[in-house]
Amino acid sequence: MYQMDTTLPADAVDFIDDAKLEAMVAGMREDPEAVRRVIAKSLRKEALTVEETATLLGAESPALVEEIFEAARTLKREVYGNRIVFFAPLYVGNYCMNDCKYCGFRRSLTSTVRRTLSDADLVREVEALEDLGHKRLILVYGESPKYDPDFIAHTVRTVYATKKGHGEIRRVNINAAPLDEAGFRTVKQAGIGTYQIFQETYHKRTYAAWHPANTMKGNYLWRLNAFDRAFRAGIDDMGLGVLFGLYDWRFEVLAMVTHARYLQEKFGVGPHTLSFPRIKPAEGLDLNLKWQVTDAQYKRLVAILRLAVPYTGLIMTAREPAELRREVLAFGVSQIDAGTKLEIGGYQETRKEGEQTLNREQFQVGDTRSLDEVIGEILEGCYIPSFCTSCYRLGRTGEHFMEYAIPGFIGRFCTPNALLTLSEYLADYASPATRAKGEALVAAEVEKLEPKLKAEVLDRLRRVRAGERDLHF
Ligand code: SAM
Ligand code: SF4
Repeated sequence: MYQMDTTLPADAVDFIDDAKLEAMVAGMREDPEAVRRVIAKSLRKEALTVEETATLLGAESPALVEEIFEAARTLKREVYGNRIVFFAPLYVGNYCMNDCKYCGFRRSLTSTVRRTLSDADLVREVEALEDLGHKRLILVYGESPKYDPDFIAHTVRTVYATKKGHGEIRRVNINAAPLDEAGFRTVKQAGIGTYQIFQETYHKRTYAAWHPANTMKGNYLWRLNAFDRAFRAGIDDMGLGVLFGLYDWRFEVLAMVTHARYLQEKFGVGPHTLSFPRIKPAEGLDLNLKWQVTDAQYKRLVAILRLAVPYTGLIMTAREPAELRREVLAFGVSQIDAGTKLEIGGYQETRKEGEQTLNREQFQVGDTRSLDEVIGEILEGCYIPSFCTSCYRLGRTGEHFMEYAIPGFIGRFCTPNALLTLSEYLADYASPATRAKGEALVAAEVEKLEPKLKAEVLDRLRRVRAGERDLHF
């Protein structure tokens, strides 16, 4: 059995100063002039300091908050264009030795149906996702000796090897409990894209209240330093996050920015993505929480994160309801999931859309629409749905990615790749209505490209229509 080395390295640091961040929250006052100065800095695409982020969090009046929203919309357009990247989560197994009090997989819940996908089940799940048109997955695991680094690496390789028709998964990210350095090296060798893990709450007293001390996850510092170990093991593509609703959302935003800046300063690479899920109903969870984040606060936190870390991707999951997702997309979200099923083995099962059984999944999904439906809707909003996986496959990650995240890169690479992967989706998987909307959008977007690139993209689009695939820039 794999023996994890849980000794923290001598330089493991607790870079979250709870008292300092609490004092910043307590001292927040609205200062319109300061807010506008910070917005101007962010619009120059400079990352904000923790103090500047606090200035934005202090804005309360609707007009000033609207200025922040507008700045976030502008920054999103300028840095990311109108692309939205699609992915799907795939739950591999829900055995878990932790007892996080918000989670439907926690060990003390005897009502939870426990299951780990067999290789054959995993292949069937992946094929079902490929049949929908997905190209990027995030594999999710409980924390259990069953899911050791070799097991995780094996499942990642199995997913890459599973192909059906034109279907293939081109990028496999993972969300798994923190590993030791050797473990991270093992999963890196299997070709993972992003390693994602959420601190849940950065506030230590709250962390201790939700994660019992006699569990692996009860060790705050082991989790906080996970990215340090991952980085040393060669993983330079990391996704951090907070489970909003456990503690004051303003504290958590300051802490996320602290974490992002810490990684940037220590390793020269900030996080690739930030996630900001809100806590949702789960088996045996009383959602009457003191710190539950309202929709209005949620919008503010997304817009402020956009402004604080201009080059970091923002992920908004299907935990949120469709109407809110529609509105918040414009504030700078770069990735969403759709058609999400959290039940282990849920993609190959035929159940009615929207039907959920809480004792078989981690929490309740808010947006239960199909991938085709969500794509159809965002096409109407003139976004370009993208299944692009090019940067990671061409080694444009970590500091190399940061180099590329410069003006011109999006137009030269991301938009063409989005149009090519969208065209593949339209040809292979879309409903007739979505296909018609998509083809109109592709035609309009191609017209906006500069002449040489336009000719190249038109040529590749012709080749996609003729049956070639994966013609990325
Ligand atoms: N077991 C690993 C861990 O805890 O890091 C893997 C991830 S867990 C299956 C994925 C994430 O789901 C957690 O990090 C947590 O933030 C989130 N989650 C757990 N319970 C939730 C709930 N009731 N509502 C929303 N998100 C939840
Ligand atoms: Fe286990 Fe992760 Fe759920 Fe905690 S959040 S109980 S570690 S699956």
